[in-house]
Amino acid sequence: MKTRAAVLTKMGAPPPYAQSKPLEIVELDLAPPGPGEVLVRIKAAGLCHSDLSVINGDRPRPIPMALGHEAAGIVETCGAGVDDLKPGDHVVLVFVPSCGHCLPCAEGRPALCEPAAAANTAGTLLSGARRLSQAGQPIHHHMGCSAFAQHAVVSRRSLVKVDPEIALEDAALFGCAVMTGVGAVVNTAQVPAGSSVAVIGLGGVGLAAVLGAVAAGAASIVAVDLSDGKLELARALGATDIVNAGAADAVDRIKALTEGGVNFAFEFAGVIRAMELAYKITRRGGTTVTAGLPPPSQTMPLSIVNLVAEERTIKGSYIGTCVPLRDVPRYVALYRRGRLPVDRLKTGTLRLDEINEGFDRLREGKAVRQVIVF
Ligand code: ZN
Ligand code: ZN
Repeated sequence: MKTRAAVLTKMGAPPPYAQSKPLEIVELDLAPPGPGEVLVRIKAAGLCHSDLSVINGDRPRPIPMALGHEAAGIVETCGAGVDDLKPGDHVVLVFVPSCGHCLPCAEGRPALCEPAAAANTAGTLLSGARRLSQAGQPIHHHMGCSAFAQHAVVSRRSLVKVDPEIALEDAALFGCAVMTGVGAVVNTAQVPAGSSVAVIGLGGVGLAAVLGAVAAGAASIVAVDLSDGKLELARALGATDIVNAGAADAVDRIKALTEGGVNFAFEFAGVIRAMELAYKITRRGGTTVTAGLPPPSQTMPLSIVNLVAEERTIKGSYIGTCVPLRDVPRYVALYRRGRLPVDRLKTGTLRLDEINEGFDRLREGKAVRQVIVF
């Protein structure tokens, strides 16, 4: 069949993208689902900073690649051997499939699935196949999803079935922003009720972490960003204090607000200075968590004496240490009860052919989560 999709043909194009148009909307050939795969009609797909990192070349991927990794849609056709989904089911796409039998999967850590990591790096589905092509030339899949498209063929293991009562344009956010942000708080850090928390970097993931900290019962939640607009949004979502990271005394102010530092500091900005700030504002015995993805060459010096004598913990968090089949339905249930209002992260909807303008807004910090609706 044919499908319209946003394909990245060049990395590192100069902004503004409205002019350089790194993403081209083209008609692709989409092969039918193979064994263990599913054809999904995409209904909504969110624009995420990790798409931007591929577009600008910070996180290089094989091109040409059909981008998009945060989405929800409706099952149209199931390939051979898929007997637990049926046409009409509502599904959220997950950007790390889980094979179910590698060592990390066996240990209950599907975010670290090794065949999935290899497939995502190669730009294929979990099976190793590419189902997208243009004039006979294969097009790479993005994180097993390639969801900026009318249709996608994905592995069954990239899908979680969701309650059809939830609007698909809200459901899409659970695939990346919500799992990554809420999961970092609930799974990676396991924040106990009454804790003090700081969240640095208030994009869709960071603001989802603020919601997660509220849901987890954190007593104080300090939101930190360079944008006053995002700080105000964080306050509206439940942050108890806001601090502009650009203030010269930001560290001292956060420490003063939290009796010497927070139990848990979360870094989602993906820049080393933000990680350094997160570490500085973590109190003795506390935990610093990062889900930010700075360019691979960047490193941070660390005082080991400090790490030891203050019994600090530093943790990386990928896809929120989530077990998607367990956590997406849980977070959706919290959403439906009003305890995780993720729809408030949306700052607009757009059409597929407005995607380059959407990434300009994301790049300029003028948007949190924009969702393409099909
Ligand atoms: Zn993402
Ligand atoms: Zn696995």
